[in-house]
This record gives sequence, structure tokens and C-alpha cells, in this order.
Amino acid sequence: MALESRYRELHPRSAALYERALTHFPSGVTHDGRYMQPFPIAVERAAGAYKWDVDGNRLIDYWQGHGALLLGHGHPAIVAAVQRQVERGTHLGSNHPLEIEWAKAIKRCAPWIEQVRFTASGTEATLLALRLARAWTGKPLVIRFAGHFHGWHDLIAPDAPDATPPGILSQVREQLLVLPASLERLDAVLQARDDVAAVVLEPSGASYGTQPLPDAFLREVRAMTQARDVVLICDEVVTGFRVAPGGAQERAGVVADLTTFAKIVAGGLPGGAIGGRADIMGRIAFGDEAWNRERKIIHQGTFNANPLSAAAGVAMLEIAWTGDPQRHAAAMARRLIEGCNAVLRRRELPGSAVYGDASIVHWLLGAHESSPPGELPPDVPLPVLKRGGDARLMARFRLAMINYGVDLMRGKSAFVSAAHTPADIDATIAAFDAALGEAISDESCMDWPRP
Ligand code: PMP
Repeated sequence: MALESRYRELHPRSAALYERALTHFPSGVTHDGRYMQPFPIAVERAAGAYKWDVDGNRLIDYWQGHGALLLGHGHPAIVAAVQRQVERGTHLGSNHPLEIEWAKAIKRCAPWIEQVRFTASGTEATLLALRLARAWTGKPLVIRFAGHFHGWHDLIAPDAPDATPPGILSQVREQLLVLPASLERLDAVLQARDDVAAVVLEPSGASYGTQPLPDAFLREVRAMTQARDVVLICDEVVTGFRVAPGGAQERAGVVADLTTFAKIVAGGLPGGAIGGRADIMGRIAFGDEAWNRERKIIHQGTFNANPLSAAAGVAMLEIAWTGDPQRHAAAMARRLIEGCNAVLRRRELPGSAVYGDASIVHWLLGAHESSPPGELPPDVPLPVLKRGGDARLMARFRLAMINYGVDLMRGKSAFVSAAHTPADIDATIAAFDAALGEAISDESCMDWPRP
């Protein structure tokens, strides 16, 4: 019981706030991914690599705004840009100069992007991408890969235990084909069917590389889709501007037809974008009356290109374009991976590895009886990778890490930022060592009731 009682002891105000949250929100949270047992911590403020919870505990933060904060919390250039803009207007209801700067900043990082539209989120960006692909090709079917996340709208419903997640029409779901991440399977489907509008993927693999994919996968998918005039939508909501200034496409030497962005693109404020081929994007443009009635893709959205997000996005991309923050964050991530795997080897914990891509890191603990510690075992089933290994061990590990002052994204991943220092990384490795020891030995907590 030590681990859970320590968590409760350290977080009395978070516990009290959660009681209040339960009266307002289903399960007391405002994003499914923030739900945790016995209750989530509540955070008051953040700066750089850290955040402080309502009980005054400082945590090294690896959520980093669900991956939006490549530069850490409150980077001075972004704060200044937003402060400047907030006084000039938060919504201008018009075209404005900053949206042009924002589009130019995206194109400077990803020069193959011809035309852009801004959205309020990544979910909206993929929604528009799928609509464009279907309209452009005149075909209905969209292929995505198991576990790849593209937002929560109906057209691209996340994986669910049932074929059709509750609330989504089976007729809509039938126009989405979910394949395992297999080039052979994709090739077979593309050969057999002529109703495919688009293939959409997370280029580094399901859930920002939890199930990693090599760059060669993206290259092959590009070749296959190009050969059959199927629209390739590269979802760079996470990888965009992070794995390289030009995202996964720059790294792989690939150009998709459409690219979706969010998170880093808006500098830590709400926002997203879609960009790509001018001919496909042109389906959003106005034409004559018949075109507008029959062919034009509708795209509205009160907060599209809102000036605050534009200001933050421009400030972020000006720095991201240099490649410096990505290089630093990736070096810190490598240090974290190496240090944590050394801990796993010393502790001789089989089926466990810390792995990642660029500045994104994942933990897998107790997934396998016998594979060597520190090496990602082959063929770990996707659901096991997604939960980070042994479910009960991971739940205890998450609490233990928070007790030691480290908040991993969903308890099992890290977005390392340019603000994380070698000292932060070494403190995280030490916390990992201690937390792992407690998580392994304390088997008592875990029979929590559902709120
Ligand atoms: N695509 C990917 C690859 C994502 O990771 C996410 C969000 N985690 C989305 C789309 C949806 O973005 P948003 O949360 O801004 O709607």
C-alpha cells in the first residue's frame, strides 16, 4: 500500500479537486487520455521543462502539451508574440497579415506544401483531408493502419473493441478499412479494390511510434499510392516540425499529397493546418455557381487561423526551422533511453525496454517473460505496446514516477523538449530506477473502483 498511500499523501489538494471535477465532468476529466487511477494530479502552472501541481510538487513534465511544446513551457519568444497579439485582438473576423506569415513559416519548413488551410485542431485537419481525398478521387474508401490515431471524428474513428465504436454509424465505419501495418496487406488491398480514395498514416508508427515504423515504410506506401492515384495523407500532427523541421517526410525523402499538422504548428496554442498539392487543395476554392454547388468542399471554422495561435505558431516555427531545438531534444531523448535501458539491464527485468524516435520516448515494462532487458522484443502485440506492457505494473509505475516528480505522458511516453537539460534527464533516470523498484515490489494497490 506504500506506493498509493504516498501518492495520496503528496496530493491532497489534487484529490480534493478531483472530487469536485467528478461533479462536472464524466470521470472527472476533460480528455480521455488524462484519466488515471486513483485520481489525476491537478497542475497549477508550468515553465520550461517543469510543472507545479496544486500541492506545490514540482514535476519534470514529459507531456509537454501533448507534444505541442517543442521549446518547453512558456518560451519567451512565444510568450512575447502572444502578449503582443492579445492586445491587438484575439479574433479579427478577417484576413490578417499574421496568417500569411504563418503559412510562409510552414512552407519554409516543408517547402513542398503548395497551399494551406488552417483549422482549430488536428482532428479537424484530418477531417478536411479525408473529405478532400474523397472528393478529389470520387471514391469512398479510406485505409488507415491499426492503432494509428488521427483524431476522434466519425470518419476516422479510433480503434475500438467493437467494429463500430458506439455512436458512430456502421455505414460510415464501413468506408474505413483498418489494416495491420503491413506493406503486403496494403498492396493486396490496393490491387484488389478500385474504390480507395486515400491512405492515411502516422509516419513514425502507431501512437507516435509506440509501434515503430521505419522511414522505408512511408516510402513504400508513397510508391504504392502514387502508382494507383490514391491520395496519401501523411498525418504529421506529432511528427511535424519535431523529427525534423520538415517532419517525417523530410527525413524519409517523401512528399505526400496532403499533410495534416497540429500541436507544434500552433506553438502551444490551439490550432491545426492542412497543406499539400494545389490541385487537391483547390477543391476548397470558390468557382462558378455550379462548381460551388456541386464540387466545392466546404471549409469553415470560427477559430481558423486565429491571431493568437498564428502569433505563437510563427514564433515557434521561426525557431523550429533552425533544427536546433529538435537536435537538442533528440540528444536528450537518446540520453534518457540509454540511461533507462542501463537500469533495466542492471535490474534484469525481461520483456522491458525504453525506445523511441527523435525526441519521442516510450516505456515498455514486463511485456515478455524472457526477452533481454533493454531491447524491444520482436512481435509484441499492438495492444500490449499501447499500454506499455504489463497493465498492472504500468499503473503502479505511473504513480511511482509521479511520486518521484516525473510526469510521463499517459504514464508511458515522453515528449522531450528543447528545455530539458542533461540534469533533468539524469534526474528522470534516477527517478525511473527508484520508481521501477517500488512498482515491482508493491503489488497491493490497484483495485480501484471506477468513478
Ligand atoms: N493525429 C495525430 C497523429 C495525433 O496524435 C492527434 C492528437 N494526439 C491528432 C491527429 C488529433 O489532434 P487534436 O488532438 O489536435 O484534435
